Amino acid sequence: MTPKPKHLFMAALVFSAPGAIALIALIATDRLSPGIGIVAILFVLAGASAIVFYPLSRLRQVSRRLEALIDLPPDAVVDASPPDDSGAIGDVAATLFRLERSWGRDRKQLSDGVRAAQLLFDALPDPLVTLDSQARLIYANAAARTLLEGRNGVDDLVGRDLSAVIRQPAILQAVSEVQEGLPTRTVEFTFTDRVDQSFEARVEPIRADSASEDDAHTLILMHDVTALRRAEQMRADFVANVSHELRTPLTSLVGFIETLRGPAKDDTAAQARFLDLMETQSTRMTRIVNDLLSLSRIEMNEHTPPSDAVDLKQTIATVADLLAPQSRARNVGVELALDALILPVMGQADELAQLFQNLIENAIKYGRDGSNVRVEATIQDDTARISVIDQGEGIAREHISRLTERFYRVDTARSRELGGTGLGLAIVKHIANRHRGELTIQSEPGVGSTFTVTLRLSD
Ligand code: ADP
Repeated sequence: MTPKPKHLFMAALVFSAPGAIALIALIATDRLSPGIGIVAILFVLAGASAIVFYPLSRLRQVSRRLEALIDLPPDAVVDASPPDDSGAIGDVAATLFRLERSWGRDRKQLSDGVRAAQLLFDALPDPLVTLDSQARLIYANAAARTLLEGRNGVDDLVGRDLSAVIRQPAILQAVSEVQEGLPTRTVEFTFTDRVDQSFEARVEPIRADSASEDDAHTLILMHDVTALRRAEQMRADFVANVSHELRTPLTSLVGFIETLRGPAKDDTAAQARFLDLMETQSTRMTRIVNDLLSLSRIEMNEHTPPSDAVDLKQTIATVADLLAPQSRARNVGVELALDALILPVMGQADELAQLFQNLIENAIKYGRDGSNVRVEATIQDDTARISVIDQGEGIAREHISRLTERFYRVDTARSRELGGTGLGLAIVKHIANRHRGELTIQSEPGVGSTFTVTLRLSD
């Protein structure tokens, strides 16, 4: 590396000064002719230039390397080579080389640490962001990028105001309070723009004494509580539904008892009628309690699939026999086409009997007078598909996805009149789930419905 001409000239001037002064003195005292004296001065200047050229160029190199160290980008690798010269400048270069090496090591440790921390944050399932003192995003982990990128038209999160990325007053308020010095705040908010998603967010101050305005100031850690809130809501709805379902027959029973004690005290005909009605209401309550117990038992075992070999053809035939009085009463024929069920299926016999009892009973209940219910089985690979097909009134599309919810009925009064509890299909779904099978419902209003269950053949 060549030294700058200005530096070279100045150094040569300084180095040649004593010689040049001596020559000028000789010329001045007429001991040297001016011509020879000037040539001699030029020689001294040239000689001095040649002497200072190398140290100057080495110094320039050292200064360049120092500048490079200052401007080094955070993730750059320091690539220094040891000096091969000796002397004072060689010592400086050697010290510089040692500095470069230790600087490089420190930087590598630092950037490895940052990278490891980022990998760690990216592995967190919960979204995490950090903000500077102006509530601008400095960092977002992978979960936060997935959650927030593209929301409100913001693609690049870093550098954006939090208020542009998350338009949730609760969290913005918490951030401004924490930035004003209040301690950690926890708030809950719900995104409603795509699918409803509820989060519990912890807004925490990051206290670093040396932090500048641009450094991380506040941390927000979000935890998805959608499933939790939904489960809480479902539990509350369930308790409300059960209470409601039981209260109705109980209120009737209390009314009948009062009537039997009062106005119908001496009326034997009325007493017989009221006792019949009371029996109907108690049977209804018993059915609801039995269905609830079945549901909870199946749910409790849902994670362990049953593995008995069940003769499904026989099981369904028994169920059909059991329902024969009901089908005769409603003038609905039940036809079984189960010849494909040669091999047993994997399952639990009582649960499968309950599943098909609920489906066939519904088909009879909601079937038309004089119509037929067909139960047919087909086999594909290692799976049996059993369909219960009725020619009833069918179900409108908007109800189909909700039929397996507890207590969901298309027509509550009609279901009650037919002795329904609103739990039959919920039980069917949970039994199918436990058997790792699938329940599909197809229906055309005015034509009929098909409920299909898949079950694995036993191996
Ligand atoms: P329920 O005891 O009321 O029959 P289910 O859970 O068995 O309760 O069924 C839920 C609702 O689904 C019923 O109330 C009825 O509205 C509808 N449903 C079930 N099966 C049929 C069917 N085969 N045809 C028409 N509607 C049906």
